[in-house]
Parts: sequence; structure tokens; C-alpha cells
Amino acid sequence: MTSHLEIDQRFRAAFQDRLIRWYRAHRRDLPWRHTADPYHVAVSELLLQQTQASRVAPVYLEFVRRYPTIEDLHRAPAAEVSALTDPLGYHIRGKWLKAMAAAVVADHGSGMPESLEGLRRLPGLGPYAAAAVHTFGNGKRAPLVDTNIARVYTRAVGLPAEGSTYRDTRRLAELAEALTPARRFYDYGQGLMDLGATICTARAPDCPRCPLRRLCRDLTGGPPVAVWHVDGASMAAERTAGYRVGSRATPRREASPDA
Ligand code: SF4
Repeated sequence: MTSHLEIDQRFRAAFQDRLIRWYRAHRRDLPWRHTADPYHVAVSELLLQQTQASRVAPVYLEFVRRYPTIEDLHRAPAAEVSALTDPLGYHIRGKWLKAMAAAVVADHGSGMPESLEGLRRLPGLGPYAAAAVHTFGNGKRAPLVDTNIARVYTRAVGLPAEGSTYRDTRRLAELAEALTPARRFYDYGQGLMDLGATICTARAPDCPRCPLRRLCRDLTGGPPVAVWHVDGASMAAERTAGYRVGSRATPRREASPDA
């Protein structure tokens, strides 16, 4: 099977620019945004799983105060670590943090892996968290897709539903790859997370305040901006009609400077 995704280049440039400008003006001041230490970023990502940022913030600060390096975490008693993280719920995360520290100390000395593949192999870090550590800790581009980001992409591009099939997951990964800028990926990724958490929420999206409102296909309709070409057939993302096999709609192709 051959497949590639074609994106309207004006949409891509506007999506990146509006999101990044909005983030720089409205970003939330979260403690893990004051570090570029990949270990600290990994701690924040594990603590943030299924938990609101406001609840995580004080635990994160106490965690990195007690265990400022991954060796400190490796030496800490497991029960002590879990006692700190268990009040956030999702009790497995204390074990994941200890397992991550053990794997890093055993296989990488005192530093987190510098490659995305190495991060993905660490216990506790799924594909999203590994990409987040790579982006925000290692300073390397890695397209991000978690639940909030998937919702923003789905609505803005006009995918027919927020599904969880392998096909949906693959299309979202292709969208993230196509839309993530080559340079301003830090602010872009943080902006996606803030937008999904505060504006483009699951139940009550605040479209009038959204920086993407003029280009969001879910809000405005408009011609498709994403077309998948699979084995000679074209499938356009359209919110109302679903994927149209053989759609004649084609995104504009004008080149735009990468962000
Ligand atoms: S305009 Fe509304 S639906 Fe579209 S991305 Fe913004 S908040 Fe979400």
C-alpha cells in the first residue's frame, strides 16, 4: 500500500503561525516549562498522565526538589516515591518512574536517551510522552499526539470523528508529521497542549476565543485542507461527509516558508 498526505500549504502556515502567536501571548506558567532537563520533563509527563496540570504542579515541584537527578530517583525507596505520587491517583506512575530511572541508570549512565527511539524504549514513556521529552527536553522535533492534541487536529482539519482505530491513529500521526514546524516546534507543541486543555475542550469548545477560528473546518466548513492519497484513490477530510473516496478536492499547493 502506498499512502501520502497532502496538506493545503496556506492552511499549514496559518495554523502554525496563529497557534504559536497565541501561545506566546497566552501561555500558562507551568513549572515544567522552566526546565529543559529531559529527566525533569519526563517526570512532568508521567505525572501529567490522566491528571490536570494544576494538581500536578505542586507534586512536580516537590518531586524534583527531592530527586533532582535521575540517580537520586534511582536511589530513593519505591514506597517513598509512591507516597509522593499516589495522591494524584493512577497509582502505577510511582512504579513507572522508578522503572524508568532503573533503565536509564542501567543503560545510559546518568543521562536520558538522546534519541526518540531510546526514549520510546523506556518503561512508562508511551509514544506521546517520549515525543514530548524529545521536543521539550532534548530540543528535537518530534510530532506530538495525545488526546487533547488529537481533538484539536480532528476539529481544525475536519476529520469526521475522533476515532481510536489503527487507521485513525495513523492519520493523526500523519497530520502531526505534516503540520509540526521544523523550527518553532517547542512553542507549537506547547500551544497545542494549551489550546486543547483550555479552549478546544471536549465538551465546550470556546470557539469565539480560539486563535484557529477563521481556519477551523469544524467551525467554518470550507473546502478540504487534508487529502490522503492511498493506492491511487484520494480521501479528503470533510467534517460532514466523512472521507470521500475519489474526492476531486485538492489542497492548494503554494509553497510557504517553513516555520
Ligand atoms: S474553532 Fe472551536 S472547534 Fe475549532 S479548533 Fe478552535 S475551539 Fe476547537
